[in-house]
Amino acid sequence: MLTIGITGGIGSGKSTVTDFFAQLGIAIVDADIVARNIVAPGTACLEKIALHFGPHILDHNGHLNRRKLRDIIFTQPSERAWLEQLTHPLIQEATQHALSLTTSPYRIYTAPLLLEVGQNTRVDRVLIVDVPEALQLARAGARDGATSESIRAIMNSQWSREQRLAKADDIIDNSRDITHTKTQVETLHQQYLKL
Ligand code: ADP
Repeated sequence: MLTIGITGGIGSGKSTVTDFFAQLGIAIVDADIVARNIVAPGTACLEKIALHFGPHILDHNGHLNRRKLRDIIFTQPSERAWLEQLTHPLIQEATQHALSLTTSPYRIYTAPLLLEVGQNTRVDRVLIVDVPEALQLARAGARDGATSESIRAIMNSQWSREQRLAKADDIIDNSRDITHTKTQVETLHQQYLKL
């Protein structure tokens, strides 16, 4: 089955575009949701993380405290490596499983770091959701109530606009109004149905 990989920088409009495809009946597998599910309370993976880092890595509801974990792995590369050797194979397996369950005419895999982690080789086409950086900052800021500094930090951990666009098979320009974006999704949808 044809798999379209959707990616784009923070605030570019990946969720917005993905929602439009979902409204057209297309199955979506979201890398963020897969990654969250494998460390849900009660999973063997979360148990191993709590054993390794200590119980303070969980919040009072038994959920992973992602902020704490992020702080540790950003400053300690060996801890990051430990976490990745645990989670990456599980994420891979869960993604494959989720994709195997899809039944729509084609399917979408959406991942903020599709290109950065080399997952573009696992999809048939790369669709980039594109906006100028100033719009990324404005929209992500309005959505998250975050400072432009913290959004910049995330942008700096992602590929640049130019790097991304160089890998695109298809591009959605999300710099104008929502209707303009929806029309582009509908056009691509018709093309994908024919592939
Ligand atoms: P991403 O998933 O790439 O981080 P989102 O789809 O969440 O981006 O979009 C970021 C913010 O911008 C959201 O609040 C969304 O509602 C808004 N947004 C997305 N596309 C447009 C658009 N074409 N015009 C105005 N606002 C938009």
